[in-house]
Amino acid sequence: MVPGLDTYKHKGMRQGLVDLLRDKGISDERVLAAINAVPRHTFMDPAFLGHAYEDKAFQIGEGQTISQPYTVAYMSEWLEVEPGMRILEVGTGSGYQACVLAEMGGNVYSIERFKKLSDTARKQLDILGYQGVKTFFGDGYEGLPELAPFDRIIITAAAKEIPQALLKQLRPGGIMVFPLGNDDDQLMIKLTKTGEYDYRKEVGDNFRFVPMLPGKVI
Ligand code: SAH
Repeated sequence: MVPGLDTYKHKGMRQGLVDLLRDKGISDERVLAAINAVPRHTFMDPAFLGHAYEDKAFQIGEGQTISQPYTVAYMSEWLEVEPGMRILEVGTGSGYQACVLAEMGGNVYSIERFKKLSDTARKQLDILGYQGVKTFFGDGYEGLPELAPFDRIIITAAAKEIPQALLKQLRPGGIMVFPLGNDDDQLMIKLTKTGEYDYRKEVGDNFRFVPMLPGKVI
């Protein structure tokens, strides 16, 4: 990482955020350690710098947002990541969530439909030393069939229905976590693939994400 990018002040604020997430019910210490390790402020427009360690979402351009830390922590906990797992992320956005999963030991493959966001995230991942996180510019509805199967799939945008092509790219026993619902209101869903065409579904809390949209934008 570039020297001076992450100061003691930032580290202190980040520890405060971790304590807040613990208070809000995040109990997986591996998730909390990962949040503590990733300098969230470096993913944000300098205008928001003073707010980087508040539990809030922020604009990252192209009408998209870096998710609220609680949301990132919740999804990371639900995903039950083990070191060495192959994880597909749909919605790279800033690249922040991908880094949290990488800190948990995941081998992350992340797709973004906006070229500009994908390029900016790639640069940031390289600056921070996350060369192991692989980024792809493309339509997440298609997934990455050539790299399937994945142990875990996380969608960080709201899907109106279960994306079937992605479910196909999940290995049997694998887990897919995503917000399901309309533009204003979604429920977090965890699907555990129990067979080639079967899955178990768990329903979590309410969230509000930007929509998952088809196609890519150059
Ligand atoms: N994980 C991100 C959150 C980004 S918000 C972070 O940590 O910053 C959701 C992102 O999903 C947006 O960048 C949006 O452009 C992207 N997205 C929406 N539909 C998509 C699709 N079909 N394929 C790939 N990315 C998509």
